Amino acid sequence: MGGILFAFAGVGYCLNVEDQLRFFDDELFLQSKTFAAKTQYSLYQSQWQNQRGQTRLENGVSLNGGLIYARWYNANRQLVQFVGSSGDKQLTIAPGFQTVQAPLSSARFPTATTWVRQLTLPVLKDKVLVGYFQTAAPMDSLRSSLNQARLFFALGVPVTFGVIGITGWFLGGLAMRPTLRAYQQLQRFTADASHELRTPVATVLSNAQVALMPPEDPIEQRFRLQKIAETAKSMSMLINNLLFLSRYDASLGETILKPVDLNELLRSLAQEFITQSSAQNLNFSTQLSEQPVMLQADANLLKQAVINLLSNAFKYTPTGGKVQLRLFTQSHRAVIQVIDNGIGIPATDLPHIFDRFYRVDTVRSRQTGGFGLGLAIAQQIVQAYAGQITVKSILGQGSTFQISLPLKL
Ligand code: ADP
Repeated sequence: MGGILFAFAGVGYCLNVEDQLRFFDDELFLQSKTFAAKTQYSLYQSQWQNQRGQTRLENGVSLNGGLIYARWYNANRQLVQFVGSSGDKQLTIAPGFQTVQAPLSSARFPTATTWVRQLTLPVLKDKVLVGYFQTAAPMDSLRSSLNQARLFFALGVPVTFGVIGITGWFLGGLAMRPTLRAYQQLQRFTADASHELRTPVATVLSNAQVALMPPEDPIEQRFRLQKIAETAKSMSMLINNLLFLSRYDASLGETILKPVDLNELLRSLAQEFITQSSAQNLNFSTQLSEQPVMLQADANLLKQAVINLLSNAFKYTPTGGKVQLRLFTQSHRAVIQVIDNGIGIPATDLPHIFDRFYRVDTVRSRQTGGFGLGLAIAQQIVQAYAGQITVKSILGQGSTFQISLPLKL
């Protein structure tokens, strides 16, 4: 970036120098023409035209304000006349513009020189070369304006460089933020997953060690083996959940979409929960739509999201409580609600309950076998179908989880 900036500044400076030089040359050419026009008449009408030799200018001919000298050479390139400094007797250079050093003609510094822009023009009469006319102007004004340009670039380039640097640093930080967040999330996820697996692995190990001892009580040994089997089952559930989250993390939307009748899907799902509700002595009811509610989705994934909500409602509603599953449409959206009058969620926990591994009360969740992944999975599925999942809950009174999905066909 710095290199590009410096290259641009360099090109800009060169173009500026070229531009100013061209402007200066145009000015010099105009001044030279004016001066030549003033003196031409006297030269041609007097001695020079006839004698083509050394002559004097007529009185009253003086240099234009900007010119430092004017010289006339004959066709043989011999100096015949000059105003200002005399220069070489013999013209050796080709016609055109040159930058040369010339005497300063200062009384205080007689040997001092200065840089001048010199113009040598061939003088033609009836298409015949009759001599050369040479003038020069000091380059002081050009140098001071080039110095200004140089100062501008000397200050402007580092300042621009600094501004670009600061902006780049700021924008880089901004662009890195999602990556950093994703990295931190991954780190937290790995730490949480390892932490979750550590406890059951320790349980399996300790139970296995006891079970491996010489059997004293066969019932005790059976209990240990049962504990191992239970823990292994819960570990397998956790691993399945983790695999689900990582497998579908980026590509959930790419799953095969088919028309799904939500009404039918929820009706069959409710059947599966009826047995559980009577076992838990819960009052489970449904309020579904009269019409089919169609949308494009993977039926198994949508089912999984609703199962997670219903399982929670069953887990966190004490015996005798009520759980309701509702489905209705509202402004081109299908709305699924899972309502319970269970233990509810404290207001401070509500903003976090969709985070992975977040549990309102670790002890309470562990008793019910939860890992804090059910809602994260439900949210991941719903968001993949451009839907929203929200919760309203009052501690001790119950919770309402709502999924709303766009009805696209
Ligand atoms: P878990 O598997 O631990 O239930 P979830 O992600 O499904 O994890 O839920 C996160 C937390 O939200 C749970 O620990 C639980 O405390 C709380 N929660 C979820 N649903 C309900 C509910 N219907 N009633 C009360 N608390 C709930």
